[in-house]
Order: sequence, then structure tokens, then C-alpha cells
Amino acid sequence: MSERKVRVRFAPSPTGPLHIGGVRTALYNYLFARQHGGDFILRIEDTDSGRFVPGAEEYIIESLNWLNIHFNEGVGIGGEHGPYKQSERREIYKKYVQVLLDNEKAYIAFDTPQELEAKRAEINNFQYDASTRMQMRNSLSMPTDEVKALIESGHQYVVRIKIEPNEDVHVNDLIRGDVVINSSVLDDKVLYKSADELPTYHLANIVDDHLMLVTHVIRGEEWLPSAPLHVLLYRAFGWEDTMPAFAHLPLLLKPEGNGKLSKRDGDRLGFPVFPLQWTDPNTGNISSGYRETGYLPEAVINFLALLGWNPGNDQDILSIEEMIKLFDLTRCSKSGAKFDYKKGVWFNHQYIQQKSNEDIAAMFQPVLKSHGVDAPAEKVVTVVGLTKERVNFVQELWDAASFFFVAPESYDEKTTKKRWKEDSAKCMLELAEVLNTIDDFSPTTQEKVVMDWIAEKEYHTGNIMNAFRLAVVGEGKGPHMFDITWILGKEETITRLKRAAEVLK
Ligand code: GLU
Repeated sequence: MSERKVRVRFAPSPTGPLHIGGVRTALYNYLFARQHGGDFILRIEDTDSGRFVPGAEEYIIESLNWLNIHFNEGVGIGGEHGPYKQSERREIYKKYVQVLLDNEKAYIAFDTPQELEAKRAEINNFQYDASTRMQMRNSLSMPTDEVKALIESGHQYVVRIKIEPNEDVHVNDLIRGDVVINSSVLDDKVLYKSADELPTYHLANIVDDHLMLVTHVIRGEEWLPSAPLHVLLYRAFGWEDTMPAFAHLPLLLKPEGNGKLSKRDGDRLGFPVFPLQWTDPNTGNISSGYRETGYLPEAVINFLALLGWNPGNDQDILSIEEMIKLFDLTRCSKSGAKFDYKKGVWFNHQYIQQKSNEDIAAMFQPVLKSHGVDAPAEKVVTVVGLTKERVNFVQELWDAASFFFVAPESYDEKTTKKRWKEDSAKCMLELAEVLNTIDDFSPTTQEKVVMDWIAEKEYHTGNIMNAFRLAVVGEGKGPHMFDITWILGKEETITRLKRAAEVLK
């Protein structure tokens, strides 16, 4: 088996927006495939027509594209093992359902929902299995003629797997080791429904993994309970030899660590749980996304990569190439990973610092435009260089740097009270005169001239510089004062000084 080419798949169901946990699953599959020079397949599992949500498939693809999680086979790409959308594979599943029926690994059942309901009321903890199936209406309990007649007269039926009781089923999990379940706790799950002529998730999933030559099934922990059934299905088909290895990834937990992460946690604590903004097609409700909130895709990837896996050193910041090199399923944790969203913000901050000022400036330009500012690229790049260390998100650059582009309309009250003294207005007008004499407006020259003037007049440096900042910025923040005025230029600086002197007196 080891000589088989590594082939993994991400197999989402289009039942809504892709959850951030699903993104992590896709990422781990991607890292694993890349590490092994294998294939990464995108398969859409849309056999549950009742749960189909329009736009979900497009959303999944757009999300993974944004994050640079690339497939080399599957929906939207094609490949030798298609079609890759399960709703287009009906005939294939029908054939394999018949194989199971012919080999007596499955049987036909006619029980209506009402009959099943009645049974549940009659028997405590009713389970459709070896101990009860002979009391039910199916091809094992009924004469062959009757079964035939019912089918021919158009009665709806389902096909159920016939699970042999009292047998230990082993799931070999790369993260969890040998997981053993006794088959008696499993029920005869429905594999196919005649009503819509479609298989259920379990059958379609196994048939496709087999036909698509999948070698490793890497998926969320929520699928672990289905794994014994999947092992039994592989056996029922006689495909044990090519059964994939399983790896069930740890759950993502609430930031506090108690219980599964949900959309409500995001709403409650103010972080997105979806990669992109999503508008619910039925209610019109909008859920926030990482992209629209201002996260860089690299930051989201780095954050997610470390939720349930660690590279074994203390490294936090990893490039995608490093992740591909170091990724190791056996280093994934069995227990859930706390969704420390603040760490996500930290990663975004780090990646903003890493990116070039030019790249960040290009992202900041639309924000400037939205505030009616049309600034030359060169200036935006310089401003970004001076202010990006103060922000976690590109959008925050507006708050941190708007004074570079628009003069303050008002002056922060608190700062004014504290920093604008009796003689500030007079001093600022003098300062305006002093600056006016400078030809080379570089930060160093300005600084020298201004400091000399302060010394000569025996002014208090702190008082002057604080008032200067208030006049130019409108509040007490910002980078080095003479960097600001150098970017603003002489004329604008003097105008701001005069205006502050007039407004604040
Ligand atoms: N369709 C399942 C899902 O939505 C796939 C589970 C699996 O990977 O086997 O996650």
C-alpha cells in the first residue's frame, strides 16, 4: 500500500458557508498532499438535497482560492476520476448499491417513517440492527415475492447495511491510534433512498474515496463516529487492501475552552467564524468574514495551521513552505484546540509588518478613497512605513494616519486641556515663523532649527512639542513629529499651526 501515490480530498457538503474548522481541514489536507507530492481533490458531497444551500459551493471555492489552498483535481478543475460532484454520480452509486445487495451485505427496507416512529415508542432506545431487524418490514424478514411485488408496484424503500453484531471494528487513526468499537452499537444505516434515487453520505463517501484512489482521509473529529461504519463498508465491498488511513482532527473549541466553537461565540466575542462574509440566502442575515474584516490570507493560514498541530519547535510564524516541510499528522493533538482568536489578531499584526510598505499601501488606497482622499502612491507608502507598526488591520491605518491626508477639524479635548498652555498659541505662531525660514525641510534640519530656537528662547521642550503635535495631528498620538511635518510639507505644517493658534487661542 505504501507505494500508492498520496491522494487526499476535501469533501465539503454545500449546506451553508464553509466554517473556519472546515478551512483548517482543507489546509491540513493541502499541506499533507504537498509534502508528499500527492494529489489534492475537491469533491462536493451534495447528495442530501434537503440541505442544499444555493451559493454554498461557490462560496467554498472562493474561500479556498482567497486562502491559496489549491486543488489539482476536482470540481472546477476536472481530472481522471470525475465527475467530482456527487449529484452527478447517481448511476455509479446505484451500481455499487446493487453490488452490496447481491452479496447480501445490505438489504431493502420498506418501513415508513410512521412505522419507525411507532417502533421507537414501543422499544426503549430502539436501534435498527441485528436484534430488531427481523421485526421490521424488509427483504430479510419478508418473502422474496412480496419484496419484488412491492418494488414493482412503486413502493418507496431504502437500502440498509447489514451489520453483523458483536464484532470489534478497528479504525486505524494516525492521530488517535487504534480506535475500537463493537459493531453491536452500530445500527443498520441507510445507504440509499429510492425516493430520490440517491445514496446517503456514507455510501457515496466510501465509493468515491475508493474510486478516486484516496489514500488518506483527513477530516474533522465529528466524523470519527462514522468511521467504524466506513471500515465495515470497505470490507463489505472487499476493498480492505486499499482502505485509506484515517486522521480525525481535533475539534475547534470555544476561546474559553469549554465546548465546540460555534457561530454564536463569534457574535458574542466579535470575531468571524467564516472565511468570507456570507449572506444567508433565506434570511438575508450577514455573517462577517475574515477577508472583509481585514485579515491577510497568510495570517489566517498561519493561525489555523497551529490550531491542533505544532511544528515541534517554538516557531510561531511559518511560511507555507515551512508548514509543508514540517507538517506531521502524528503531531496533531487528540484533544480539542482552543480557538484563541486574539492570537489570530496577533498573527495579522505580524504579517502586516512582514509585508512590504508598497503592498500594504496598495491595500490602504481603497480605504483612503472611501474617505474621499486621493493621495499619491509614494506618500501612502511612506505613511504606511511610519504607522503600520501601530495597527493590527489595514483599515486601522485610517485612524492611525488620517492626519497625514486631512488637517484636523477639531482638537482632542483631553489633550487640549492637558497640553495647550497659556502661551501655546503665541509659541505656535512663532514656531510657524521659524519653520518658514527653513529651505531644506528634512526631519534632521527641522529638528536642529526648532531645538536651537527652543534653547535660545528658553522654552520648555515638552510644552512646545506637545502643542506642536496637537496643532498638527489634532491629538496626542502619531510617529516622530518631524517625520510628520516633513511628509506634510512646510506650507501645510504652517497652515495647521496658524489654524490651531486661532481656534485654540
Ligand atoms: N461531506 C462531509 C463534510 O461535509 C465529508 C466528511 C469526510 O471528509 O468524510 O464534511
